[in-house]
Formats: sequence, structure tokens, C-alpha cells
Amino acid sequence: MAKLDLKGVTKSFGDNTVCRGIDLSVNEGEMVCLIGASGSGKSTLLRCINLLEPIDDGRILLDGVDISEPGLNPQPIRARIGIVFQSFNLFPHMTAAENVMLAPRRVLGKSRDALDAPVKALFERFDLGQRMNHYPDQLSGGQQQRVAIIRALAMQPEIMLFDEITSALDPELVGEVLDVLRQLRTEGMTMILATHEMAFARELADKVCFLDAGRILEEGPPETLFSDPKEPRTRAFLKRVL
Ligand code: ADP
Ligand code: MG
Repeated sequence: MAKLDLKGVTKSFGDNTVCRGIDLSVNEGEMVCLIGASGSGKSTLLRCINLLEPIDDGRILLDGVDISEPGLNPQPIRARIGIVFQSFNLFPHMTAAENVMLAPRRVLGKSRDALDAPVKALFERFDLGQRMNHYPDQLSGGQQQRVAIIRALAMQPEIMLFDEITSALDPELVGEVLDVLRQLRTEGMTMILATHEMAFARELADKVCFLDAGRILEEGPPETLFSDPKEPRTRAFLKRVL
């Protein structure tokens, strides 16, 4: 069974249909990359998966269970699916460690004491042990984004969603954030990334999906999709970005 299964996911804003019957299967431990022009629906799809947006039609199955049914309490499901955005959105008046502890304390009801050791271990695992008591403005953009990833991981999610998480960074800081994804990939995390980092997708994705006007126009293993795209629109997009 797939870890996550989207079946005919459809989402409109008014009369603008942004996701048009998306079918997507993600297996445990896979990394799936969503590529496509700005406005093709990548962010909306990730937000739908995390139940930040209700869908209009179709189904989203997590471990075979429909999580998209109207009326379902989204909170416990959101705790199982982490999401990281382009803008890190750390609280400026809290240290990195306090930012990371916030959701486990509020949502999972854990105490500071109980979180001390596991949070320290998370910072050390991602090479930020020396920075956990710094405030966001004392950290570089790359370090802040890594803290944002750690914050999502502190909820012990089963799946991680990443929406263009390197797009706001200075080029020299992109690598350290991609290294975190590389490490998570090695550790077997199930991940879906919307990304413009084509070389990274090519190197690490199990599957790449090209979104065009709310549809997955073409998908496949990176070596096929990047080297031998079938659809003229995929070819045109890749020609622009590669
Ligand atoms: P991408 O991430 O691929 O750039 P988005 O999912 O952000 O694409 O946007 C797809 C379309 O959905 C765009 O036309 C955008 O204007 C529209 N859209 C996204 N979010 C909203 C919203 N909250 N309200 C209305 N329209 C939205
Ligand atoms: Mg987007």
C-alpha cells in the first residue's frame, strides 16, 4: 500500500480550478519532486495534502485511510504531515530551541523538560547544536531554514512536505539546506518537494512530476523525465529552466 495516495484531487478558488484531478502515489521512504511553472498548482497541492486547504473533489489517503473527508478533525493528521515553506516564519522573540519546542508543547502537550533531550539531539543531528540558543536574527538564512525543518521534524511526522524551501536563500546558503534533505532521504523519510532545484531533483528524486495548469502532465523517474520527456510542454519547460 502507498504511504500517501491522491485520487482525483481537485481544488478551485472561485472559478479558478488550480488542481484538476491529481492522481499521485507516494511510497514509504520515497522522495517525490513536483516541478512546473509558477502558478501550475504545486503549493496548492501541498497545502491540500496538509489539509490547509479543503479539496472540492477526489480523495487523499494516508496509510489507506481517507483524510480528506469533510468534518474530520485536521489537527491530528497535520501532526503526522510536516510542512516547510519558503519563508521560514520563525518567531523572532524566541530562541531556535524555543521555536522548535512550541508545537510539541502546544499540540502534543509535552513539557519543556521532556523535550530538552530530544530537541538537543535534533539540533545536533543537523549540525546546529551550537546554535540552538540563538535568536533567529543571529542566524543566517540557511540556518533559519534548517531550524524551520527541525521544528517540523520535532513533531515526528511520517511525511514531510517542502515548498520551495531554498527559493528565498542566497545562492551560497542553498547547499546546506539541500544537505538536510539529502540526510533525511538517507534516513528514509517520505518526502514531497515543490522545487526549482532541478539538479537536486535529478540526483535524489524517486519520481518527478511535471505540473502544468493543475494537472500532472508527465511523471517518471528523473533520468527519464529530464533526459527523455515525452510531452512538448515538459520539454519546453525544461528547456527554460535547465
Ligand atoms: P505554484 O506553487 O505552482 O506557483 P500555486 O498553487 O501557488 O502555484 O497557485 C496556483 C494558482 O492558484 C494560481 O493561479 C494562484 O493565483 C491560485 N491561488 C493559490 N492560492 C490561492 C488562494 N488562497 N486564493 C485564490 N487563489 C489562489
Ligand atoms: Mg508555489
